[in-house]
Amino acid sequence: MRPSFHPRLINDPFNDPGLFIPFVFQNRALIFDTGYINGLSAKDILKISHAFVTHAHMDHFIGFDHLLRIMLGREKTLSLFGPTDFLKNVEAKLSGYTWNLADKYNYPLCLQATEVQGDFTYCREYRCRDRFKPQQDPVKKPFDGVLYSEPAFRVSAVTLDHRVPCLGLSLKERFHVNIIKEELKRLDLEPGPWLSEFKQALYRRTDPAAVFEVNYADRPDKKEFELGNLAGQIARITPGQKITYITDVVYSDANRNKILNFARDSDHLFIEAAFLDKNRDLAGKKYHLTARQAGELAAGAGARRFSIFHFSPRYTDQESLLFKEANDAYNDFS
Ligand SMILES: [Zn+2]
Ligand SMILES: [Zn+2]
Repeated sequence: MRPSFHPRLINDPFNDPGLFIPFVFQNRALIFDTGYINGLSAKDILKISHAFVTHAHMDHFIGFDHLLRIMLGREKTLSLFGPTDFLKNVEAKLSGYTWNLADKYNYPLCLQATEVQGDFTYCREYRCRDRFKPQQDPVKKPFDGVLYSEPAFRVSAVTLDHRVPCLGLSLKERFHVNIIKEELKRLDLEPGPWLSEFKQALYRRTDPAAVFEVNYADRPDKKEFELGNLAGQIARITPGQKITYITDVVYSDANRNKILNFARDSDHLFIEAAFLDKNRDLAGKKYHLTARQAGELAAGAGARRFSIFHFSPRYTDQESLLFKEANDAYNDFS
């Protein structure tokens, strides 16, 4: 399977946590956590359409200012998501600057922030042209675990305990459309942007009897197919990719059970491992995991692959111990 998104940790494991998730063949990305993100190019930052923040500790949220700085003056809507008190956190950030000229920008940025609070979400809009002063009360909606969804994928969240509510995040593709190159050739079709249209039509559950047109920007010829017929010939449908991101959580029974359910069958689990297991008591006091606990959780959830990050600086130059401990636990419990 050729994945539709390529997640990567933004920093090395001793620096601020964060996952950048660009979409293949699309000028678009998601971000999980916005700590120090200056390692991302402006081009990459401008691809971000949705930012998900696990909690507002500085190492997960200080990059909000940088995001805003790069996006200011653009015709763009940035959607932000976070846990309890997130709207207050966003508003406090916005009120830290002077916006007297912001209504003059030709290209107004709009922020849409959503806060998870128990079984509800609260969403509020902040527009550059209103100098980021919200014009309406937050809109309350029931929350069933799915924070955001589109035909092709969805992002779910679970509230975990880090002495403050902290979101675990998961991105799941609905299904994966594999294109069979040999069949394209046989039908004398060239790959191109039409393939992305074709996949979107499948995700939108368009009527299989509908006409689908294959056309090219640089060629006059076009061909018409019945969508279902074309799919039967050139596409193979396989289960979608699942990426899960768990950070800043205490190892308690409640967290453990929630994480195992939430991360079940992930293709790739990104999970914090702040401490070595010999410092387990300290990890508990700081509401973080040890590398051993991270490896055990990855194995228990049946994650096919896992990556650890968010190492405590006390292990500088000893990262190999953290990797070894997590891998040993993963192998022991798999
Ligand atoms: Zn942290
Ligand atoms: Zn934290």
